[in-house]
Amino acid sequence: KLSKRLQQIADWVPKNSRLADIGSDHALLPTYLAKEKHIVKAIAGEVNPGPFDAAVRQVKGARLESIIEVRRGDGLAVVQADEVDCITIAGMGGGLIVSILQAGVDKLSGVQRLVLQPNVGEDLVRQWLREEKWLLKAEHILEEDGKIYEVLLAERPIEGWQADEFVQADKSMYASRQLACGFVLDEQWLLKLGPYLSQEVSDVFIEKWQHEVNKQERILNTMAKSDAEETAERREQFVAYKSELEELI
Ligand code: SAM
Repeated sequence: KLSKRLQQIADWVPKNSRLADIGSDHALLPTYLAKEKHIVKAIAGEVNPGPFDAAVRQVKGARLESIIEVRRGDGLAVVQADEVDCITIAGMGGGLIVSILQAGVDKLSGVQRLVLQPNVGEDLVRQWLREEKWLLKAEHILEEDGKIYEVLLAERPIEGWQADEFVQADKSMYASRQLACGFVLDEQWLLKLGPYLSQEVSDVFIEKWQHEVNKQERILNTMAKSDAEETAERREQFVAYKSELEELI
C-alpha cells in the first residue's frame, strides 16, 4: 500500500502510461503502478547510488524488470526524447524540480503530463510551468504524518495551440480563480497559494497558511531585536500578506 502522498501522485498517472519517475528512491511509485497494471513501462531514475541500489532491489524483488527499468543519472538525463508520456517528480524542493525540468526541456517534447510534488517552493514550480507553457490542470493538498504536501498536475496545452492561445488560457484560468476567491489576489500570491487550492480553501490549506503566518510572526519578533530597517520592511510585507491571507481563510 502506498502512502497517501504517493497514492495521490499515482492517481494522476494516466492508465497505460509510459512513465518516468525521477528521483525514484526505492521505486515505490512505479512498482505499485506496474503491479496494478496501470502502466505499460517505467523508467525509475536515480542519481544517488544508495537509492539506485534500493530501486534495483525493489524491482527485482517484485519481478518487474520487464516493465520497470532503473537507470542511474541526473534528472532527465536518464530519459530519451519520446520515450515516455508522463513524468513524476516528487519529494524534493521546488527549486530542484525546476532545475531538473529546465535541464531536460529537450526530453519533454513527447510528454503529455507532469505530476509534481514539491516539498517547498511550490510557487517556483507554478512559475516554471507558466513560463514553459504547461497548463496547470489540478492541485491537491494533503496532510500525512504531520506534514503538508501539495501535488500539481500539468498538461500540454491542446495540440495546435498557438503561444498566445496558451497565454490566454493560462491567464483566464488564474483570473477565474481570482474571481472565485471573491477578491483579487496579487499574481505572485496566487503562485504561492495555488490557483485551485486558494479557491477550494480546504482545512489542510488553512492549516498550512496559518502555520506560515505564525512562523513569519515569530521571525519578525526575533528580528525586531536586531536589524531595525530590515525588520520594518519585512513587517510591512508581512502585514499585507497576513491581511490577504486572513481574507481568504
Ligand atoms: N520520489 C520519491 C518519493 O516521493 O517518495 C523519493 C523522494 S526522495 C526524498 C528524493 C530522491 O531524489 C532521492 O532518492 C535522491 O537521491 C533523488 N534525487 C535528488 N536529486 C536528483 C536528481 N538530480 N536526479 C535524480 N534523482 C535525484
